Amino acid sequence: MSLLDAGAAAVAKAVRAGDVTAVEVIEEALARLDATEGDLHCFQTVLGDKARREAARVDEAVGEGRDPGPLAGVPIALKDNLCTHGIETTCSSRILEGWRPPYDATVVERLRGAGAVAVGKTNLDEFAMGSSTENSAFGPTHNPWDLSRVPGGSSGGSAAAVAAGVVPLAFGSDTGGSIRQPASLCGVVGIKPTYGVVSRYGLIAFASSLDQIGPFAPTVADAALALEVIGGGDPRDSTCLARPAPRLIEVLGRGVEGLRVGVLEDFVDDVSASCRRAANDAADALAAAGAKVDAVSVPEARLGLPAYYVIAPAEASSNLARYDGVRYGLRVEGPDVEAMNARTRAAGFGREVRRRIMIGTYALSAGYYDAYYGQAQRVRTLVTRAFDAAYERFDVLLSPTTPSEAFELGAKTANPIEMYLSDLCTVSSNLTGQPAISVPYALGDEGLPVGVQVMAPALGEALMVQVAAVLEQAAPAEARGPVPVGGRARGEAADGA
Ligand code: GLN
Repeated sequence: MSLLDAGAAAVAKAVRAGDVTAVEVIEEALARLDATEGDLHCFQTVLGDKARREAARVDEAVGEGRDPGPLAGVPIALKDNLCTHGIETTCSSRILEGWRPPYDATVVERLRGAGAVAVGKTNLDEFAMGSSTENSAFGPTHNPWDLSRVPGGSSGGSAAAVAAGVVPLAFGSDTGGSIRQPASLCGVVGIKPTYGVVSRYGLIAFASSLDQIGPFAPTVADAALALEVIGGGDPRDSTCLARPAPRLIEVLGRGVEGLRVGVLEDFVDDVSASCRRAANDAADALAAAGAKVDAVSVPEARLGLPAYYVIAPAEASSNLARYDGVRYGLRVEGPDVEAMNARTRAAGFGREVRRRIMIGTYALSAGYYDAYYGQAQRVRTLVTRAFDAAYERFDVLLSPTTPSEAFELGAKTANPIEMYLSDLCTVSSNLTGQPAISVPYALGDEGLPVGVQVMAPALGEALMVQVAAVLEQAAPAEARGPVPVGGRARGEAADGA
């Protein structure tokens, strides 16, 4: 087994100990990227020489006896809505094509400070709007398990890059499920932290009250390590909580003895048999490990989706007003400023982004504001209160992450509502601001990975990760990546056993 497949912590340990050089590790990641990119299209930008230079600096530190940090020499991938100084950051949109941010996102800075080396920027649904990565202006990403399937979205490039073993760690953003849903569809772990645990400084805004950055990794331990590195207060984001990053590694072995786990009943009729079975099996595994497991109904969870699809577009319509042909990226000239703005936006934004801007603008317009935006905000409050009430009885909640296994490319592109339904189980955590994780749990009836979701109350990351670690132990190895491109032969596990 190659060191890269042993995960981020193992790579960092070997690099810090001088057993392997960061340059060697990065070369291997770049070689894998090269070998898989033609089939997968995970990347928007590849950072070959820059990555090599950064890796050399990590090796220099090791050579001089300085500690390069907990992610020393770990190759990572960054969703292309995270600002990287001097490196094109497109949000997979024509309107930002060629734009090079004059600064790094806080998360990017912290990762580099911990010794991680970015090998590329990953593909996403344009401005993170979508559930399949098919809304990218630069073509879709393919699911490494089955190239005819979507990787999920919007962080599909990051999820697929981890699932294909190109990098042991990648980063995405989750506004309504964009980390957890692709993680589930690609057989990797994905975390959406509590709103405010990770700084959004330098994350290009989609819906500011919902957006959070989080990690993808093959294991819960690596995802936890990554969150420890990127989390914690940041004066440059006023919504970021002034507290240290959650401590997660220390809880990994604690088990679930005595923990109260609520199994959400409300999605049973909305999800496939495979997804239902995975969640039920996961509940049984937790009970067998000593948790007190009970069914619970939070009917408001099903109201999350309609509320989300008003609030998110409303915030997006405001955030995306800044792309006016003057300050960023693309400009299409016109006879006057208004025509220039309109032509730029018509040429620069794809269909889904335009749809969201129109829905959001409508929902915020005079005369309709209260009926749409106001109503959605009231529903948001109801959803939050309902989950808070559930957490008085339970430490964590368990549910499917997605309604189905990865679907065929093109299957839902003609029907936006169908696509939106992919987010049914994930949006509530964004509306409430509470944390959630997706853990690979089974291979479904179509032979593709199925994740289960553990949700926790605000700042309950440690409990959530503790439970996820137990689930990971109980899950069959065949359900998780990395996989060779095109998937592995049935029954063959991650380590080739
Ligand atoms: N799929 C959802 C949407 O299209 C969520 C996207 C996200 O989390 N960025 O809005």
